[in-house]
Amino acid sequence: MSQDRQHFGHVIDGEEVGSADGRTFEVQNPWTQEVWADAAEGGPDDAARAVASSRRAFDEGDWPRMGRAERAKAIHRLADVLAAHTDELATADTTDMGKPLAQARHDVGRSVWNFRFFADHQRDHVGEVYPMDSGHHTYSEYGPAGVVAAISPWNFPLMMASWKVAPAIAWGNTCVIKPSEDTPASVTMLGRLAVEAGLPPGVINVLNGHGDPAGSSLVADDRVDRVTFTGSSVTGRAVMASAATHLAPVSLELGGKGANIVFDDADLDNAVHWAVEAIFRNAGQICLAGSRLYVGAGVYDEFMDRFVAAAEALTVGDPVDPATRFSCLASKRHFAKVASYVEGLETDGGKVLTGGVDGDGRWIVRPTIVTDLPLTAPAYCEEIFGPVCVVNRFESEEEVVAMANDSRYGLNAMLFTENLSRAHRVASQLRAGTVWVNCFFIRDLRTPFGGAGDSGVGREGGNFSREFFTEPKAVVMQIRR
Ligand code: NAD
Repeated sequence: MSQDRQHFGHVIDGEEVGSADGRTFEVQNPWTQEVWADAAEGGPDDAARAVASSRRAFDEGDWPRMGRAERAKAIHRLADVLAAHTDELATADTTDMGKPLAQARHDVGRSVWNFRFFADHQRDHVGEVYPMDSGHHTYSEYGPAGVVAAISPWNFPLMMASWKVAPAIAWGNTCVIKPSEDTPASVTMLGRLAVEAGLPPGVINVLNGHGDPAGSSLVADDRVDRVTFTGSSVTGRAVMASAATHLAPVSLELGGKGANIVFDDADLDNAVHWAVEAIFRNAGQICLAGSRLYVGAGVYDEFMDRFVAAAEALTVGDPVDPATRFSCLASKRHFAKVASYVEGLETDGGKVLTGGVDGDGRWIVRPTIVTDLPLTAPAYCEEIFGPVCVVNRFESEEEVVAMANDSRYGLNAMLFTENLSRAHRVASQLRAGTVWVNCFFIRDLRTPFGGAGDSGVGREGGNFSREFFTEPKAVVMQIRR
């Protein structure tokens, strides 16, 4: 073991601890391909210990009982501490999964904002009053649900975790977060920084380890009141089935195969810019990626020339180099998966305009653009979760809406047009949790976020998070006899 190898334990009850059986696993930097850290390998005993701690903090501790302003203040204090550690947190995500450092810094900023937003949202929220003709009125109360199990993926390690932990604790719950085994660093640091910020023990526990047994033991624990999961659709099904055994409500944010539609009347500068960002940012490892691109026949040739040129202009390299816009995939396993899709593109009848697997031993798939794939090809239908854009030409609005909706996924879609009526008409017809018109990635945290079909169950964001992370109560009062 190299001397400067870092170690990430579980953070349980305000302390960083090893696993009950002492097991650890190695964590690899996907750019250097070196092991840079090891992490505690959580098992059933560790999951049980983390849940017991959060249970105690919820059943006996101050957190669910304190005033809303006081809780908001504590969460803002945590946000301050996170912001003060931006460099370390961003470096941790870059080292764990290879995203360009500038993008990782941006993600830390978004994570800080997640905490601030939900702290204020719960503090300032208003309930409802229902006047009744019978001489009564009913009002609603939103009390905390209990212990939340949160499970997050590796593509935005800190940001995805904060998207779950922030609303959970803001609404007075306690929480056990299990980060992906590929990216334990930044979430473990979040657990440490929560202790530094003075959050009571057990409010944020971090459980490291693999999906099975660490994640599966967490979800199966009947002392857990809510399960919030972000990850693949396959794992989401297993999580939902397990949570159902003890009737814990689930929120599932799963995979995507986003349709990006460029109409003939689009502002092409804007459309090219967003088409590149949508599929090549984070090397395409984004659930919201614009991986299916549909281009109107009237602008097809011009758009494609510009799109290919812009993809080829992305600076590929070391993620810590400030000039890098595009880097390696997050792990050897994921590289092998994406590479196998890329290797099948031409066999399946596709024409690769640019990109492909880098041959230099790094886990890089260059920005790849493919046309002419049959609509039954795996690369067209399945989520690749890499920098592969499948392009189709279309003639009519009806045709493109039908193609866009012909997917098991329904997370998001984008459309580019200067025609106002068309923008509204098409947006309302697309089967997607979010539709962006002439833009992409823009989020207001008050709005619903989630997907239809294989993209998930439920919505989070603003009041949608409140519904999930609380146990709403109706209080009926007689006010007149
Ligand atoms: P994954 O499903 O392999 O793993 C996600 C998490 O689940 C990890 O922490 C993993 O350890 C854990 N896990 C695995 N098996 C488990 C089990 N049986 N029980 C409990 N937990 C288990 O997904 P991934 O490869 O880490 O992430 C990529 C996927 O996440 C993609 O499909 C992507 O689209 C999706 N994603 C969705 C969103 C969204 O908001 N919809 C956001 C980011 C990523």
